[in-house]
Amino acid sequence: MFVRLALGALIAPLLSGCVLLPPRPGESAIMLYGTRVTYSLVDARDFGFCPADRVGCSVPLGSVCFVMIDRAFFERADPRQRTLVVAHEVGHCLDLRKLSLSHGGFRNEGQRWGAYWATPSEGYAEAYGRLYLRRCGPDLASLGWNGERGSCTPPDPREVTPDLVDELKL
Ligand SMILES: [Zn+2]
Repeated sequence: MFVRLALGALIAPLLSGCVLLPPRPGESAIMLYGTRVTYSLVDARDFGFCPADRVGCSVPLGSVCFVMIDRAFFERADPRQRTLVVAHEVGHCLDLRKLSLSHGGFRNEGQRWGAYWATPSEGYAEAYGRLYLRRCGPDLASLGWNGERGSCTPPDPREVTPDLVDELKL
């Protein structure tokens, strides 16, 4: 069913340099692999930089990556769907901050999950999300969602490659 879900897009950084903003009300933040990721539930029409037909949106701004998830999607999704979308957006953040948008060597391998994931950045982000789900299960706390802290360590962004996807049959 995920084939029909449009996931978030990576938007080019708007500012370079360091920006450290305090969390807004209802927003939670975590440091993942040296990247500060903040989460918020919003109406997709308020994504701003991403099309409103997506269910998630990541906006890197300086040293912070803002992950927004559509509230209506989140409320109707099951725990695995929620976790996959949030981890997918985290994948976009880490691709930029840790891999300099090299996408882990992905080219079009993401098309195994559908046309939407055929681009290098979407293929990488989806692989990150699926690997997270495989390793940690539907555990949003370990992604720092809602200010929580879990016991599972999210995958190192450098290990997410097309070969690993093949090997694990993600
Ligand atoms: Zn995406």
